[in-house]
Amino acid sequence: MTDLNKNVQYIKGVGEARAKALNKLGIYTLEDLITYYPRDYEDRSKIKKIAEIVDGEKCSIEAEVVSGLNVRMLGRYKSIEKAIVKDETDNCMITWFNQPYLRTQIKRGGKYRFFGKIQVKNGVKELNSPVFDAIDKNNNTGKIIPVYPLTYEINGNAIRKIIQNGLSLVGNLEETMPKYILDKYNLLGYDESIKQIHFPINFDAFKKARRRLVFDELLIMQLGLLKLKGENNKEIKGIKYDENVNMSEVINDLPFKLTKAQLNVLEEINNDMEQDKPMNRLLQGDVGSGKTIVAMIAAYKAVKSGYQVVILAPTMILAKQHLENFNNILGKYGIKCEGLVGGMTAKQKRLALERIENGDVDIVIGTHALLEENVVFNKLGLVVTDEQHRFGVKQRSTIIAKGENPDVLVMTATPIPRTLALILYGDLDISIIDELPPNRKEIQTFAVSKKLESRVNEFVKKEINKGRQCYVVCPLVEEQEENDGPKLKSALELAEEYQNKIFKDYKVGVLHGKMRPKEKDEIMQKFKDKEIDILVSTTVIEVGVDVPNASLMIIENAERFGLAQLHQLRGRVGRGEYESYCILKCGGINELIKERMDIMTKTNNGFVIAEKDLELRGSGDFFGTKQHGIPEFKIANLFQDMEALKEVQALAIQIINKDMNLEKEENKLLNKLVEKRFSSKAEITI
Ligand code: ADP
Ligand code: MG
Repeated sequence: MTDLNKNVQYIKGVGEARAKALNKLGIYTLEDLITYYPRDYEDRSKIKKIAEIVDGEKCSIEAEVVSGLNVRMLGRYKSIEKAIVKDETDNCMITWFNQPYLRTQIKRGGKYRFFGKIQVKNGVKELNSPVFDAIDKNNNTGKIIPVYPLTYEINGNAIRKIIQNGLSLVGNLEETMPKYILDKYNLLGYDESIKQIHFPINFDAFKKARRRLVFDELLIMQLGLLKLKGENNKEIKGIKYDENVNMSEVINDLPFKLTKAQLNVLEEINNDMEQDKPMNRLLQGDVGSGKTIVAMIAAYKAVKSGYQVVILAPTMILAKQHLENFNNILGKYGIKCEGLVGGMTAKQKRLALERIENGDVDIVIGTHALLEENVVFNKLGLVVTDEQHRFGVKQRSTIIAKGENPDVLVMTATPIPRTLALILYGDLDISIIDELPPNRKEIQTFAVSKKLESRVNEFVKKEINKGRQCYVVCPLVEEQEENDGPKLKSALELAEEYQNKIFKDYKVGVLHGKMRPKEKDEIMQKFKDKEIDILVSTTVIEVGVDVPNASLMIIENAERFGLAQLHQLRGRVGRGEYESYCILKCGGINELIKERMDIMTKTNNGFVIAEKDLELRGSGDFFGTKQHGIPEFKIANLFQDMEALKEVQALAIQIINKDMNLEKEENKLLNKLVEKRFSSKAEITI
């Protein structure tokens, strides 16, 4: 058996140039090569009778050549080759281009198997440029052929050959999974699976092979994440907060009743806080579900137990908003909150830093400025990050390092189906607020085409005349590809057109990503202060800014946004007492767009929308999953394989509960796979 770490360059058919091309596909070793899975298959195994074939069908025929190959040269390098073949049902014309050498291969009276697409012209059947084998061979036909994701440099036939060469080198592949799992889940062996996934003898074999490999991939990912979580928690001594500080002291004083979901989540958080291992919790809840108040109550507990709290917000405007809210609710308990944002003067900042370091401040609320080295806490006990996806894992750990194993609460408004959350945030415990406070009005949502533009404009005027304000969101123009339909207007262009033409009598403002943070904040503040009626912007307003007077959200070219993102944007309105509306303007309409817009108009539930988004677009596009750090899979598809994912998650939890470090004899193999998956690139040998 050949070493699986063998450099792919030295495999027959590869060489230096092709090795480079393979490297680009992530293939460095023999093992990478044989685990480079097909993206599709072409079934060339079924043989059809010529008489049964219809126009446009792709299939194999077995036929005898009745004419010799006719070659017509059309120039020095151009030619057409034609032959007529027949089976016992009918005749068929075969045409190739620029392959005069076929003269030596296609012989009158010879029998061959051809595979290609049939065209019927004037009742004559014609097969264009088919692949073929002599009837007693099956190199290119007569079987199921894998189709690989391609590069320009290596074509389908070449990569098939290379993989075949690789497979013939490896001999019998060693089993990678413990036997007890194979037996329990009735999984195909590893050797068989790898071979069948590339060159399945039939589709049933393919299905079994795929099931096994998907199972492996998901299980190893999930085990790795759970193990990581175990390691995070193991032996690290965190803070045990005072059991006598009761959250209900705040809860009972609030101007509103908390929802059941909020109370449940607070109980989970309270439990975590009273244990001596650090809390590592993700708090998920739809926009407006009331996450901030939950964070406040947790902060209360921390402060009253003698610790400082830091709240990390993604934008200055949000930090300011939080500061205001925290002061409103917690001020009366003698808790001192202080903001630390980018725009402060040097002196203001120095004084604030002093107070934080001395412990004169209980809760510090700010932006990235908090990550700087000169921010030193007196006794940091709780870290809250809001709108998690704006902060990288690295930033999270920078702030955590400012305390001694502080508790961590990560808040996000991005609704993620639970199974996915386990993969995405496998290293965190998860709490979900799955209901909105009562009496929240549904945002009325309409999808309209460009034709209704003037009516929409009239509606905007009507709302503003009532005293309301309006958001208009445009997609990023940079995202437009060439030949991608009519040119989209940028936020700037649209704002100009609005101010100078359509909404002359109103105040139009504009906000876009290229502005400096200070400028953005100023505009946002003006909007809050009602100095702007219509705020045109890119998606920079996506995160939770509160302008209760804004009742109308218009989204330009809504078809270009993910559903989850549309839902986030829509959540900017309906935050006050007024009836609120969201109008989705669509540039073009097709079935998929219609279906997506229908979901938006029919439900206000972020989790339902996220599930649907996932279903319609697949996990690859799931509101830009790359950005959300969904790991890449070689064969598993998080939507298509949801059932397998559930099965695997249950198993992974069972295994980890019994054997947290995967040390038991029966789990040794699993441990090896996990280590390999989570380590950097394996060694390459020659
Ligand atoms: P999000 O989860 O989007 O961050 P917020 O925490 O900003 O939501 O809450 C939105 C609004 O709802 C805030 O004004 C908050 O005071 C209010 N709120 C929170 N919980 C409740 C509740 N249980 N009943 C009524 N209003 C609530
Ligand atoms: Mg919020």
